Amino acid sequence: MKPYTNLQHKKVLVLGLAKSGLAAAELLHDLGAFVTVNDAKPFEENKEAQQLLEKGITVICGRHPEDLLDEGFELVVKNPGIPYTNPIISDAVARGIAVWTEIELAYLVSEAPMIGITGSNGKTTTTTLVYDMLQAAQQQPKIAGNIGTVACGVAREVTPANVIVTELSSFQLMGVSQFKPKIAVLLNLYDAHLDYHGTFEGYAEAKFAVTKQQDASDYFIYNADQEVVANYAQRSKAQKIPFTTAGRTEQGISADATMIYWQGDAILSRDEIALPGEHNLQNILAAVATCILLGSDVQPLQEVLKHFGGVKHRTQFVAEQQGVKWYNDSKATNCLATKSALLAFNAPTILLAGGLERHHSFDELTDALQNVKAVITFGETKQRLADFMTDKGITAMLVEDVTEAVQVARTLATKGDTVLLSPACASWDQYDSFEIRGDAFIDAVAKQ
Ligand code: ADP
Repeated sequence: MKPYTNLQHKKVLVLGLAKSGLAAAELLHDLGAFVTVNDAKPFEENKEAQQLLEKGITVICGRHPEDLLDEGFELVVKNPGIPYTNPIISDAVARGIAVWTEIELAYLVSEAPMIGITGSNGKTTTTTLVYDMLQAAQQQPKIAGNIGTVACGVAREVTPANVIVTELSSFQLMGVSQFKPKIAVLLNLYDAHLDYHGTFEGYAEAKFAVTKQQDASDYFIYNADQEVVANYAQRSKAQKIPFTTAGRTEQGISADATMIYWQGDAILSRDEIALPGEHNLQNILAAVATCILLGSDVQPLQEVLKHFGGVKHRTQFVAEQQGVKWYNDSKATNCLATKSALLAFNAPTILLAGGLERHHSFDELTDALQNVKAVITFGETKQRLADFMTDKGITAMLVEDVTEAVQVARTLATKGDTVLLSPACASWDQYDSFEIRGDAFIDAVAKQ
């Protein structure tokens, strides 16, 4: 861990516990800061708070006192899920107190270079791919952030021989002021989380923060096929590495129908890639570029691409039964993700979709329905989604849940078909998480 001394004897408030707050509070304490933790969960039920109290950290639990900031804090480290509209955070901002998330702390103490991967869709897939590829290339990667361990927990363990691969949401990036990854990746920008960020510009600015502190010794890998991203990229001071799937280019990394090119030279054949879909090709380009910039040879990357079938619940191949392929894309909780998944398959497809009613339009799916031969809908949106599909001339059947949807799909599917769970809706009306919904699908497929 880098000997970071700037926080010694400083009064720091950690707002919101869970895994990230716990790791941040422990690190701050070990860096010599005077730490106070405030969390909504009552002390008796709050394992993290009890753990911190034992270490001599001040904990205030079960309420957020209005006068909390009167105690002269110089820094607030907040859980990424807490919005800036939170009264304590807005008060801190008004008082000119710095507000960080734990990613900033991780950066300050890490002896290893960091890679920050962000975007509206594809973060987990790309992060996992980079990690697997770096491991194959013997680069000693560590994974941190949304998947894996909290970044500031990982950062204190690493050496300069490691590299930390972090998946970063806009919530984690908002407010960072020093975080300077060696390589930043911006996959794409779509309307998302506007309830948190207010406007698309606010959301885009948060994502763009991934490259804000970078300079000419760093790299910024970005989606050149998306105008809004390409425009933002011009502002980056890092060396720019565009990626495009629109054909071979001399700059950055590119792909045409058959090959992947690095600075114009063919390096990989697309024949050997297991992961389906044009959207995943973008993730692959970003991941390959990252590894090449870190000095990896192409050969181990190629080996990974031959076998990498996707991350669980993200267009995950589940089984082939009597010539029918079953895919689990439960993570697709919006139309854009479902659209990407549908466009990834050429076979006649039976789509399983529906879920929490958020009154969003399904129009975005219109251009992706060419191969859809039937739709089986469930959850709160089942009637509305079935009506939408019937309007487009597609047979729709209504069922209770994912398990029944699998049973009905089995009666409809014939050899050569794909059955795809890609709900275009969140799961919370029927399932506690998209993972549990995806597991229900996997279980039902297994019980043939
Ligand atoms: P994230 O971590 O950003 O949510 P994931 O890798 O978990 O992204 O993928 C979430 C969903 O988005 C998946 O269902 C997948 O079908 C879709 N998706 C993945 N990569 C992309 C991409 N580059 N562009 C658009 N959609 C994508």
